[in-house]
Amino acid sequence: MSIQNKVVVITGASSGIGAATAKLLAKKGDKVVLGARREARLKELVAEIGENAIYQVTDVAQKNEVQALIDLAVQKYGRLDVLYNNAGIMPREQLADAKYANWEKEIQTNIMGVLYGIGAALPVMQKQQDGLIITTDSVAGHVVYPESAVYNGTKYAVRAIMEGLRQEERLHGIRSTIVSPGAVSTELNQTIDNPEMVAEMAKVFNNSTDEQRRMAVLDPEDIANAVAYVVAQPKHVTISDMLIRPTAQE
Ligand code: NDP
Repeated sequence: MSIQNKVVVITGASSGIGAATAKLLAKKGDKVVLGARREARLKELVAEIGENAIYQVTDVAQKNEVQALIDLAVQKYGRLDVLYNNAGIMPREQLADAKYANWEKEIQTNIMGVLYGIGAALPVMQKQQDGLIITTDSVAGHVVYPESAVYNGTKYAVRAIMEGLRQEERLHGIRSTIVSPGAVSTELNQTIDNPEMVAEMAKVFNNSTDEQRRMAVLDPEDIANAVAYVVAQPKHVTISDMLIRPTAQE
């Protein structure tokens, strides 16, 4: 196995795609610096990974906490090769429900969290004239569906921000990548704040055969593999956009 030895900050690392990516990159020899809010889960993950992982409790909706996570990576390892903006929530609701608190939290986490990451990472990367910023977007950043307008809006916004980042930083040796998964089996559905939708999704899932489920939902490791591929590319190669669907997804 090749030793990559890159310093990689991952937000939303306590479960799902972030945790799977942390494990895979650490196994490949990268140093992973993990951020999320649930400390017990981060502690468990770092214990499982071993010496290539450290963590800091981080709420990406708080600018200072994101800055502190980047600072930790630089203090500990002297540089920052990759920032993986992955934290996200998906409350889902009808616009007519006017759940203002959900909207604010979603925008703060899914958009501002990414911007705080970019804002903290860029000065370090510009000094290095090198760096890679990856953000987990979604098929929901390409296609709009009902009861998802705000989530869709955050993911569309992130695509625009990441493309703007690519254009602005391409001559500074800084690369940017948008990774857009389709349905992945993670804890994201637990952030849905709509009991009817949760029941509806459970019904579809429970009525499916194992084979149907296998074709309809990705594993977090499938996305981790894609991220690892991006991270392994040499400096002259930018993979700016990746869409990864389970085969049966529309
Ligand atoms: P999970 O719910 O398993 O993971 C989400 C992660 O984000 C958790 O580690 C959670 O940790 C973290 N998180 C949420 N809010 C915050 C916050 N304010 N500050 C710091 N961390 C936060 O779901 P996924 O792995 O699926 O989600 C990862 C990303 O993938 C998200 O951006 C999501 O939108 C995107 N995505 C997921 C898809 C899917 O089908 N699962 C499809 C397309 C995109 P904690 O609660 O400990 O803070």
